[in-house]
Amino acid sequence: TELTLSIIKPDATKRNLTGKIISKFEEAGLRVVASKRIHLSPAQAGAFYAEHSERPFYAELCEFMSSEPVVVQVLAGENAIAKNREVMGATDPAEAAEGTIRKEFALSKGENSAHGSDSPESAAREIAFFFSGLELV
Ligand code: ATP
Ligand code: MG
Repeated sequence: TELTLSIIKPDATKRNLTGKIISKFEEAGLRVVASKRIHLSPAQAGAFYAEHSERPFYAELCEFMSSEPVVVQVLAGENAIAKNREVMGATDPAEAAEGTIRKEFALSKGENSAHGSDSPESAAREIAFFFSGLELV
């Protein structure tokens, strides 16, 4: 079994879509093994997304991710990293497959309702960014 980090983004928490999004993960066989609602500061959002610091949308991304609370979660399951990204769908909702979180809920390429780690290395780093080992149950 594999672990991955998921974030339910501000556009989704604001519209009360947290439960619907978690249901998508559970229906796909992923288990929530840690979860908390937090309001990131712009600096914390910037640190989390440091890998994107040179991208043109970085400032907008940090502002958005700190605009409202988020729900950060660790999901566990067989191929959890790939499965989570499959359930989320493409970054741009216009390109996301039918039935995916981003197809159903995302507002735009930026306000796209969910984040998921993209590799084992980023999953390990992103989980450690938010959770201690003791919080994973
Ligand atoms: P995430 O990392 O959030 O799971 P992703 O891996 O599909 O999404 P990345 O390329 O890592 O996409 O981009 C990180 C986030 O930055 C996106 O989810 C989106 O919120 C934002 N973003 C990416 N591209 C753009 C863009 N062209 N304009 C605005 N925001 C963008
Ligand atoms: Mg990414």
